[in-house]
Amino acid sequence: MSKKEYINKAEAELLHTYNRFPLVLERGEGVYLYDTDGKQYLDFAAGIAVCAFGYGKKELNDAMKEQIDKILHTSNLYYNTPVIDAAKKALKAADMDRIFFTNSGTEAIEGAMKAAKKYAYTRDGHAGHEIIAMEHSFHGRSLGALSITGNAHYREPFEPLIPGIRFARFNDLESVKEQITDKTCAVFVETVQGEGGIYPAKQEFLTGLRQICDEQDILLVMDEIQCGMGRTGKMFAWQNYGVKPDIMTCAKALGCGVPVGAFMMTEKTAEKSLVPGDHGTTYGGNPFVGAAVSAVFDLMEKEHITDHVQEITPYLEKRLDEFVQKYSFVKQRRGLGLMQGLVLDVPVGKVASRALEEGLIVITAGEDVLRFVPPLIIEKQHIDEMAEKLDRVFAEM
Ligand SMILES: *Cc1c(COP(=O)(O)O)cnc(C)c1O
Repeated sequence: MSKKEYINKAEAELLHTYNRFPLVLERGEGVYLYDTDGKQYLDFAAGIAVCAFGYGKKELNDAMKEQIDKILHTSNLYYNTPVIDAAKKALKAADMDRIFFTNSGTEAIEGAMKAAKKYAYTRDGHAGHEIIAMEHSFHGRSLGALSITGNAHYREPFEPLIPGIRFARFNDLESVKEQITDKTCAVFVETVQGEGGIYPAKQEFLTGLRQICDEQDILLVMDEIQCGMGRTGKMFAWQNYGVKPDIMTCAKALGCGVPVGAFMMTEKTAEKSLVPGDHGTTYGGNPFVGAAVSAVFDLMEKEHITDHVQEITPYLEKRLDEFVQKYSFVKQRRGLGLMQGLVLDVPVGKVASRALEEGLIVITAGEDVLRFVPPLIIEKQHIDEMAEKLDRVFAEM
């Protein structure tokens, strides 16, 4: 079938919830992807910050194949060995004490919301607690996660959502303080805001949040779904700030392509939180995803992925900064590690589309940000190749 035929078929079958790029991807190798016509693309999106090792990573694939031949699924009514290993590695990397595996980031957020509410319920002996979330945040599309997503356009058609959600301005401590009431049970924050436009948290903001939360026994919940798993040069972005959350969520690169998420918490939080009967999932943390997560953590350690991200980041920043110097419509670069954004004064969707023609996959964030979330294994030569292709696109704008 031709590309056009694939796309027509897809548009006739799939619910139209995405305006997709006209690209039918078939296979990948390293940091390159190939479409059904055999055209090669340099990938600076990694399936939205998922494919940390790019494509066709042998150790990862072998670990998964081996598990497929043993057992895929058992349900959570029984124990399984791969998830025990995966849990141990995740908790060690995150310096957390308890973990619950989910099937997606959204579900990790749902679980974190329930965990926070249950904590306050146990402590106070009654329900009715509130959550503070940030403007321009993104936490997912289910009704719970949507309730704390700071984008009115996403929320409006589905209201009424969960009551008791208050929004504060990101990186504005005073704004958070204004929203605190005696009912507040948790503050949810992305350590680096992703979908909203690549905004890293400021040190004073996170330090201040931690202090306020400690003083008032409010849980600090950090969404590390996009910025976690080595992307910022630490396993989790909060480790750059030395501000530890009470609950954190993780997904995307946790499975490097296998659908899995997790929420983790400290023992102190867990003691007053979810107990048998409060939460569950059929698939979550099954042997297959357990094997994948376990292999991902092993590989990240073996390949010193956080060191690599720290080493390569200044080069990506330098090449992106050159665009800010060279083109007046490139307003600003911001980001942390291999999670970077260029703020553009020209339509970002158009730039991303033109980049595809040049054989470069980049995505957008917010209204005006071109987002760079490449596989974590990229080298200088790939950054140069990206810059060359992007320069050709920018030169035309
Ligand atoms: C992607 C994302 C989510 C939602 O994760 P899904 O796996 O798509 O459900 C939540 N929070 C953040 C910060 C994300 O980037």
